Amino acid sequence: MDKNIEIIETINKISEEAKKSLDSAKESSELDGIFKAFMGKKGRLTEILHNIGSYSIEEKKIIGKKSNEVKNEIEAVYNAKKTELSAGENKKFSAEYKIDLTIPGKHIERFHKHPITAVLEEAADFFTSMGFTIVEGPEIETAYYNFDALNIPADHPARDVWDTFYLLNGLVPRTHTSSVQARILEKKELPLRIIAPGRCYRYEAVDATHLFMFNQMEGLFVDKNVKLSDLKGILEETVKHLLGARKTRFRPAFYPFVEPGLDLDIECVFCGGRGCGVCKNTGWIEVIPCGMVHPNVFKYAGIDTEEYKGFAFGMGFDRIVMLKYNINDLRLLYQGSLDILNQF
Ligand SMILES: [Zn+2]
Repeated sequence: MDKNIEIIETINKISEEAKKSLDSAKESSELDGIFKAFMGKKGRLTEILHNIGSYSIEEKKIIGKKSNEVKNEIEAVYNAKKTELSAGENKKFSAEYKIDLTIPGKHIERFHKHPITAVLEEAADFFTSMGFTIVEGPEIETAYYNFDALNIPADHPARDVWDTFYLLNGLVPRTHTSSVQARILEKKELPLRIIAPGRCYRYEAVDATHLFMFNQMEGLFVDKNVKLSDLKGILEETVKHLLGARKTRFRPAFYPFVEPGLDLDIECVFCGGRGCGVCKNTGWIEVIPCGMVHPNVFKYAGIDTEEYKGFAFGMGFDRIVMLKYNINDLRLLYQGSLDILNQF
C-alpha cells in the first residue's frame, strides 16, 4: 500500500465518522459543533489536507478530487440534519412560549401632538426658514422686563390693561412673551430676528375666549433698514401659512412698546365676514398685535435709534389654533379630553 492510498483511506474513515456523528446530533448547536470539528479551519479533515506537501503532483490531484467529494457529502448530511433539527426546535419554541403566528396583531393606539404644540412647531419651522432663531425666557419675570423696559412705567395707565397676579416677592408671572424681547435687546447682538414662544398669565375671568393662562409667540426683527412694509409682508405670509388664504387687514392700535402700533385682523372664519357672535358682528377677528419697536424700548436697551429700526409682534397661539380648527371655545383645548383631542 503506497502512502497515496493510505491517506485516501484516512479521508474515507474521517468522512464516515463525520457523517455518523452529524446524523446522531440532537440539537442545532451540537450539530454546528460537530461540523466545525471536522470541517472548520482547524477541523480534522482540514488538518489532514494541510499535510500533503510530500506527495507528487499526480497524487495531489487524486487526493484533491477525493477530498472535494467527501466535503460535499459531509455538507449534504449537515444541511439535511440542520433543516430537520431547526423545524423541531421552532415547533418546541412556539409551544414553550405559546406563540401562535396565525393570530392577528394587537391594535396599538397611535398618539399625536396636542394641536397647540403641533401648530406652534409648524409656526416655529416657518419662522426659522426665514432666518429667525427661537429663544426662551423665564415665565416668572421681574416687573422691569415685563413692564418698564417695554415702555410701561409703574404710573402708566397702560399697566392696568395687563391685569395680572403679583407674587409676594414682587415678581410677576409674565403677562406676555414681550419680556423676552426686552431681555434680548439688552444683549445688543444686532441685527437680530427671534421668536419667543411660551406660556403667559393674566388675571382673567375664564370664558370661551379668555383663560388665565395662554400661549403666545413673540417675534422681533431688528436691523438697519427695517420698514413697516417688512412687518406687513412677513405677517401676511405667516397668516397665509398657518390659516390658509384669507382676507386680512391692518388697523391702528395702541401698545406702549410699539409706534405705530397695529392689529392684524383676518376675516371671521366662523361667519365668513357677515358678522356673528364670535367676531362681535364686525366680520373680523384680531390675530396678531404688532408694530414698529418704540424708540423708548430701544433706549432702555441702550440701542441707537438712528441706526437701528425694528418691528415686533405677539401672536396669541391658542387663538390661532381656534381659528385653524374652527373651535369656538378655548377651554376645550385644555380639558385633556381624548374625545376632543383625537379629532385632530
Ligand atoms: Zn364672525
